[in-house]
Amino acid sequence: MTYPAATGDFRSAPQVPPAYAEERSAIIDLEAIRHNVRRLAAVASPAQVMAVVKADAYGHGAVPVARAALSAGANWLGTAHISEALALRAAGIEAPLLAWLHTPESNFAAAVAAGIDIGCSGWELERIVAAAREQERPARVHLKVDTGLGRNGATLDAWDSLVGEAMDFQDQGLLRVVGIFSHLAVADEPERPETDEQLAAFREALAIAQDAGVDPEVRHLANTPATLSRPDTHFDLVRVGLGLYGLSPFDGQSPDELGLRPAMTVRTVVSHCKDVPAGQGVSYGLNYRTGGTSTLGLIPLGYADGVPRIATGGPVRVGGVNYPVVGRIAMDQMVIDLGPLNVSAGGPSVLGAEAVLFGNGDDGGPTAEDWARAAGTNNYEIVTRISPRVPRRYINEEPAGGGPRL
Ligand SMILES: *Cc1c(COP(=O)(O)O)cnc(C)c1O
Repeated sequence: MTYPAATGDFRSAPQVPPAYAEERSAIIDLEAIRHNVRRLAAVASPAQVMAVVKADAYGHGAVPVARAALSAGANWLGTAHISEALALRAAGIEAPLLAWLHTPESNFAAAVAAGIDIGCSGWELERIVAAAREQERPARVHLKVDTGLGRNGATLDAWDSLVGEAMDFQDQGLLRVVGIFSHLAVADEPERPETDEQLAAFREALAIAQDAGVDPEVRHLANTPATLSRPDTHFDLVRVGLGLYGLSPFDGQSPDELGLRPAMTVRTVVSHCKDVPAGQGVSYGLNYRTGGTSTLGLIPLGYADGVPRIATGGPVRVGGVNYPVVGRIAMDQMVIDLGPLNVSAGGPSVLGAEAVLFGNGDDGGPTAEDWARAAGTNNYEIVTRISPRVPRRYINEEPAGGGPRL
């Protein structure tokens, strides 16, 4: 294979230097990450930006993404689990860092020791305080109120007493209430009324906290869709995940229309190419049969790599054409029908040709959105579920001119 010279132009397909070329890879464009941070920071300003890097940065790789996001102006990092936050600290990342999803088995002491901010919905408070006593260091706490999502967060009924207890512990020097936050349920559907209701409930919770003497550094509510569509939800800090990765949270609005650039490209090479007769069954169940003499291309990615098994019909780009996957997606492989190429009679074989599942969508290339549609899911799930069997490869690690680091 030949590789076009790197142009430094993010709009062109990601350039893969031969040293990085692998049978399968998820290429992560860190310049796209930096661009998206700058874009979201401009939209959110004067609010600060928390880069949400939970779930290994939605499959993109938490440590490289966190570093790129911080270098481009993100002020905070966010994860679901304390264990994810500890991994970032272990990599030497010292930025303010919040983890918000805990169990009684979470390691609160390690979080306090590592200076990780801890989201607190209620039951965690006594464990956080015990950890602060043990570590002889005040915990940094963000109190979470449930304004309607119905997951964690204190109900408005319980909010008053949670705030009161937290302030008692703050007065004892055991913790500091650094933040107050909540999470939105339907911000990706801007026409729905519930975001207004949640915003009103959040303001009520803030007023109660203020009356109790809380003076938080950061009040935060907005996720990516709210950051992009609801300036009135920005407060002091926005928590952006999906937008950081260059994906659109809105049906019918492309990343490009939002000024975002998809950062992940999943690619492989065609592993087999052969002519078959009409009526050839394809893959387990023989659910697809060729309509005439045809040529099949074998794509060596399957559900073990994170391609949803249900997503037959999802596009694979080979030679500038998007072919739908035909037949069942198997653990390791799936098939495209290229039409009659007559390889056996000297026609062009696509064996070894690059096959792109999704990327930034330039030049009509397939997108994570296309795969989400084929799988009946959202783009969050498509990128996040790409499995560890697909190595992540980073391009544009250094800002402009630096090029990939070997
Ligand atoms: C995942 C998550 C986010 C980020 O949501 P996006 O829609 O990806 O921006 C923000 N806040 C909380 C609490 C989350 O769990």
